[in-house]
Amino acid sequence: MNTDALLKRIEAKRDEVVALTQDLVRIPTINPPGDAYEACARMLGERLEKRGFAVEYIRAKGAPGDSDAYPRTNVVARYQGQSAGECVHFNSHIDVVEVGPGWTTAPFGGEVKDGKVYGRGTCDMKGGLAASVIACEAILEEGLHLPGALEISGTVDEESGGFSGVGYLAELGYFSKPRVHHVIIPEPLGVDRICLGHRGVYWAEVETRGRIAHGSMPFLGDSAISHMSAFAHLLETTLLPRLAQRRTAEPVEPPGARVSTLNINSIHGGQVEQRFAMDAAGRPTGDLPAPVVAHSCRMVLDRRFIAEESLESVKQEIVDMLDELTRTRPGFDYGVREIMSFVPTATPRDAPVVLATATAIARVLGREPQYIASPGTYDQKHIVRTGKLHDCIAYGPGILDLAHQPDEYVGIQELVDSAQIMALAALTLTGARR
Ligand SMILES: [Zn+2]
Repeated sequence: MNTDALLKRIEAKRDEVVALTQDLVRIPTINPPGDAYEACARMLGERLEKRGFAVEYIRAKGAPGDSDAYPRTNVVARYQGQSAGECVHFNSHIDVVEVGPGWTTAPFGGEVKDGKVYGRGTCDMKGGLAASVIACEAILEEGLHLPGALEISGTVDEESGGFSGVGYLAELGYFSKPRVHHVIIPEPLGVDRICLGHRGVYWAEVETRGRIAHGSMPFLGDSAISHMSAFAHLLETTLLPRLAQRRTAEPVEPPGARVSTLNINSIHGGQVEQRFAMDAAGRPTGDLPAPVVAHSCRMVLDRRFIAEESLESVKQEIVDMLDELTRTRPGFDYGVREIMSFVPTATPRDAPVVLATATAIARVLGREPQYIASPGTYDQKHIVRTGKLHDCIAYGPGILDLAHQPDEYVGIQELVDSAQIMALAALTLTGARR
């Protein structure tokens, strides 16, 4: 199959991919709380329906975050080819994070300047979504014989774990065989990089318990905050140095994340924090705290682990440290509750989706791809764990470092290049091109 005309057609869609990126960015799908998901899903669905896709809107009723005020509406569009073959699915999340300070462009304006489109979500990841739409539309316009099927989804809540988006759809079979065979997630990993997977994650809440007493006589109680300080100290002095020694063979980017890491996400001890202030005369206003010894202190841990570690060992390591404190510290009492965990994923380098994308990168850019892994998880975790589909990568335009930053942008040339690469990869994977 000669694909020169297809690549030329995509090149000619430069203005169209920019316009679609702008249209998507101008719908402020901020998460939390999950604004305007319905509008964004409908805009995408209506466009694809006009081009012959069968479109479904799937609301994650009753799933985390879903309400009538903030419906978790996902869109899945499928174009069935003319003969038997495999299905390639392009999955993009439509939610974006809050704007934050420091912008010099309008966050939801989609301004074009110096070959870039600016705005919240341009890079992460509405530019990638637009590129995948243009790639599929160009294939159809070209009138090539298409076996198998093309799918495009716009899903919600990736930024908050994806449980009402890809996680929900995966439960319903949208990311499993025989419906789907290959998945490309156009996250902003860079136009010449293939992201094979991600490190593992273990979120847990540790609680230390003490005994309440009057704060003026702390010796009559037992402070849960003091116990938690001892645990925090042990983490800092024992566990963190140990984790920094554990290196992975996976090509995690940035390289600083090629070790195990731990972040103390939050600590809350004693009373709920009081919001008191002083008035003009120096008198306290608002709620004042009452003197008590804290009987409970809670810490949320965010532990990221590498492919060489097991989830069981990661959990045991935390428990072992807490048990050590139980032995050495009078009155130490604790509980651990898991919040969420996912094991590391890594798609093999010789998997069909990797090979097809690598070949397309070499054709369009004239260079070999770089293979990377992500420090944090993204929706691939649900596709692998729930969908049991392992032929999945993240590949898309944009510079990852710009995600969630002020003046986020995506390069227009990258939009065009990645659309060409996605189109070629899709043709190979459906079986249109061998
Ligand atoms: Zn993203």
